[in-house]
Amino acid sequence: MDCVFCGIVNGDIPSEKLYENEHVIVIKDIHPVAPVHVLIIPKRHIANILEVGPEEENVILEMHRAVIKVAELTGAGKKGFRLINNCGKHGGQTVMHLHFHLIGGVNMGARLR
Ligand code: AMP
Ligand code: ZN
Repeated sequence: MDCVFCGIVNGDIPSEKLYENEHVIVIKDIHPVAPVHVLIIPKRHIANILEVGPEEENVILEMHRAVIKVAELTGAGKKGFRLINNCGKHGGQTVMHLHFHLIGGVNMGARLR
């Protein structure tokens, strides 16, 4: 399967890793839009948030745990941040492997992204 994030998970594609456990990997976005811009990526390949099956709901729980961890690690949790999931074509999803963007380190105000 030709998936950038699977390549990052299995080490074929280099990345700047912030955090990793059995279920998720957290990397810096290659094109950051703010001082903190990280991607929370489940290790299991799931195309998007609509494709999470009932037997895989722990993936969302693990992504949430990673949000809490990384909010602390980056300091973005102190003043707040934006958590984004782009789903499908109209959502602007470009990598078809489920992920959250955690964006902060600046006042996001009314910025769209
Ligand atoms: P999305 O548009 O929600 O699918 O987000 C995909 C994100 O992945 C974009 O913000 C890209 O900058 C980022 N991205 C793509 N390839 C890489 C990579 N090799 N390493 C880190 N981030 C990447
Ligand atoms: Zn993948």
